[in-house]
Amino acid sequence: MKHAAEWLSDFTEIVATGDGTRISELFDEGGFWRDYLPFGWSLQTIEGRKAIAQFGSNHASAAGFEGVHFEGKPCDNEGFFRFQTKEGPGRGYVYVEDDLCTSLFTMLNDLPHKYDKTTKETSPYVLVVGGGQAGLALGAQLQELSVPYLIIDKYPCVGDQWRLRYDSLVLHDPVWYNHMPFKPFPKDWPVFTPKDLMGDWLEKYANELALNIWTSTKLTCARYDETRGNWHAKICKNGETQILNPTHLVVALGLSGFPKVPKFDGQETFEGFQMHSSDYKSGVASVGKPVVIVGANNSAHDIASDLALNGSHPIMIQRSSTLVVNQQDYCERILGSLYSAKALAKGITVDRADIIQASVPLRLLETKHRAIWDGIRKDRQSFYQHLTDAGFTVDFAEDGTGLGMKYRRTASGYYIDVGGSEMVIEGSIQIRSGQGIKHLSRYAVHLTSGEEITTDTVIYATGYGNMTDWVSALIDPETAKRIGPCWGYGSGAKGDPGPWIGEQRNMWVETAQSGLWMTGGNLYQARFFSRLLALQLAKRWILSD
Ligand SMILES: Cc1cc2nc3c(=O)[nH]c(=O)nc-3n(C[C@H](O)[C@H](O)[C@H](O)COP(=O)(O)OP(=O)(O)OC[C@H]3O[C@@H](n4cnc5c(N)ncnc54)[C@H](O)[C@@H]3O)c2cc1C
Repeated sequence: MKHAAEWLSDFTEIVATGDGTRISELFDEGGFWRDYLPFGWSLQTIEGRKAIAQFGSNHASAAGFEGVHFEGKPCDNEGFFRFQTKEGPGRGYVYVEDDLCTSLFTMLNDLPHKYDKTTKETSPYVLVVGGGQAGLALGAQLQELSVPYLIIDKYPCVGDQWRLRYDSLVLHDPVWYNHMPFKPFPKDWPVFTPKDLMGDWLEKYANELALNIWTSTKLTCARYDETRGNWHAKICKNGETQILNPTHLVVALGLSGFPKVPKFDGQETFEGFQMHSSDYKSGVASVGKPVVIVGANNSAHDIASDLALNGSHPIMIQRSSTLVVNQQDYCERILGSLYSAKALAKGITVDRADIIQASVPLRLLETKHRAIWDGIRKDRQSFYQHLTDAGFTVDFAEDGTGLGMKYRRTASGYYIDVGGSEMVIEGSIQIRSGQGIKHLSRYAVHLTSGEEITTDTVIYATGYGNMTDWVSALIDPETAKRIGPCWGYGSGAKGDPGPWIGEQRNMWVETAQSGLWMTGGNLYQARFFSRLLALQLAKRWILSD
């Protein structure tokens, strides 16, 4: 019986030969190899023996994979390992079953040595547009790798984008999931971070790490100069226009940057207030009045709860179904084995947790999550029944794979319940499900069911556009079309068309446009993927003239 350590030793020997077929024979027929840079210099999951054989032939011997050190016991069937490649040191995780590898994860961790390279250029090598968590984490990584960079953000202070969100917002993910690179939250940090505290923490982060950031600085447009191989980026800094010529432009403008407001007949005749959820601050102005909220996902619930607690009468219009999960279940059953006080006590530090999480390819994650969600659905049957009885329509993703996969597919369609569902059940938040809006009149919203709701406030909690909208707006629509949508992994689910890619589309890798990169997502993604993105940029910086 071959255990993980022995398997790795065979793998190391055969990889050096570059014989793809023999490499693939070490894997299960349907095995996976997820490689984050050390072999293929991209973020990719290779699925099945045939594809692994091809990948091995193309990349194995050139990688210089050696010095493998398995961190577990000789009898373990899975575990962490470290290795060296020509490009630098790496880490990995391997799963072995019946002598064959079912899944292998390899990831580059660093570059071989700190290099001494200076530049006479006045423009930064990398321009990071957006100084939210994604831009700051990337800046911190580039700084650590000595790559010249500049972060710009349109707001006057770092953290403002969190501060400007609605007053009642508290992060839904627990602290263990949310650490930024190099500077974790202090030990006494609250489990769930209120949004202003999050904004203040990001500001402190930028200051203490002395990140190179210009605030009150907006990118107004950018064009790639194919001949010179760099960008012509027009920025407006404190009202003055400047041109920068970075080689690489990283769009870190957020998944939630482009408010999506649906069009309805009569919107222009409606005499009350209409706003997108991103403009909502608090419910104090609508005490005692009905407020129509279009949408029934996270922001809709948070806003409806805030309105109800402030004494107004929110009515959520739910066009299609929503996944709802109680926050405790979410934290314990989805994140808890890797990101929790318990996991930490067992020695699963955040970097170990990140590697284990990345070691599960998306196809396997779908299967794993389907089982977890079947369990949640069964154990919380009466809760879901009460919600359904209140007229709310619940789903668990179209294939039962739950919130994590919905997030990776479209980053929408769910509510992590922090009390809003109870309000729906007992009626302080009203729900109209399976209905859309037909039109608005001067003082009312008219539903497709024929119901007329008199109101003077309509809030569109209808989500955000795709990140390529930023490319369209700041570069041009042709470039946006050429690179295609960002996010999703080609699951074939609604909003995430195929073909299957098995990684987040266009994220943290160079897009079809030379020198154009995208980053974003939640705090885990800002932390983990910033390293991989920075390593790719650093390699290009080292090789540049
Ligand atoms: C209501 C709400 C609640 C959320 N709750 C959670 C949560 O609980 N947990 C979690 O992990 N995530 C949550 N998210 C999702 C995500 O973590 C946040 O959206 C986060 O802010 C994303 O970080 P980012 O750095 O990718 O983008 P952003 O934080 O959106 O940063 C983008 C930055 O780009 C700047 N910018 C925009 N245009 C320009 C321009 N032309 N030039 C220069 N700068 C520009 C903006 O000022 C902004 O600072 C939530 C999102 C929303 C909207």
